[in-house]
Amino acid sequence: MSLCYLNGRYLPLGEASVSPMDRGFLFGDGAYEVIPVYSRRAFRLDAHIERLGNTLAAIRLPNPHSAAEWSAIIGEVVDRNPWDDQSVYLQVTRGASAIRSHAFPQVVRPTVFVMSEALVTPPAAQRETGVACVSAADFRWLRCDLKTVALLANCLLRQHAVDQGCAETVLFRDGFLTEGAASNIFMVKDGVLIAPPKSHLMLPGITYDVVLELAARHQLPHVVREILEDEVRNADELWLTSSTKEVLPITTLDGRAVGSGQPGPLARQMHGWYQDFKNTVMRGG
Ligand code: PLP
Repeated sequence: MSLCYLNGRYLPLGEASVSPMDRGFLFGDGAYEVIPVYSRRAFRLDAHIERLGNTLAAIRLPNPHSAAEWSAIIGEVVDRNPWDDQSVYLQVTRGASAIRSHAFPQVVRPTVFVMSEALVTPPAAQRETGVACVSAADFRWLRCDLKTVALLANCLLRQHAVDQGCAETVLFRDGFLTEGAASNIFMVKDGVLIAPPKSHLMLPGITYDVVLELAARHQLPHVVREILEDEVRNADELWLTSSTKEVLPITTLDGRAVGSGQPGPLARQMHGWYQDFKNTVMRGG
């Protein structure tokens, strides 16, 4: 059984428990992060801790730990689990209080939970074929930039894809691309990589940043701008990105082929750059 961290203690996951009065359970009142670990090194830890800090500040929940403390806790969880490559899940909620009340408790004792699983990235066969996706209206709230545990809308939107045998739901709001239910979306048109700009309407993905950095480093033409739904439906390539999915080509959208219906050349190129980057920078050589 994997080992986790809960409120100052390291213990087997099966022995960890929190109160049913925890506001994370009652209200989805909390923040989270998912951090990929390669060869026991947490990838872009600073960026994840910074994003966590932004979410906590926006939901007015004081950050219970300094960056150094977070790093120590995460390092300990990584060390105490058996896998070299891991997916660390970290959650902070506004804790439990005696009564159920929407308003914040006067004294907040946050619940801090960190667990880890083996990191499972998409199998080679899936990269070769790409994945099928569906689309839907983005009916989430207006602070999708915050990584909060209130993920019911994202769950419904991901299930919408699963129900149709698809991998992800691509979201449109007011005629523009936002992101996926649990991923960012990129498109390619005429050799140019195009990404929607960060805003309150999408999560600022760590992988999104890496992809744009790699595009710049390898001089792949790229632009960050609003993307119309119509453009997505006529894209040469579509990719989804996340810490666990990395860079995955989308080859059908709503049953129609994206471009040739095969992973495009730029997806293959970016995947190669990403793997090189992972094996050198992320794994440390
Ligand atoms: N957008 C949403 C809604 C997500 O849930 C995620 C990751 O889970 C992402 C984007 C990608 O973020 P990252 O690259 O930091 O994993």
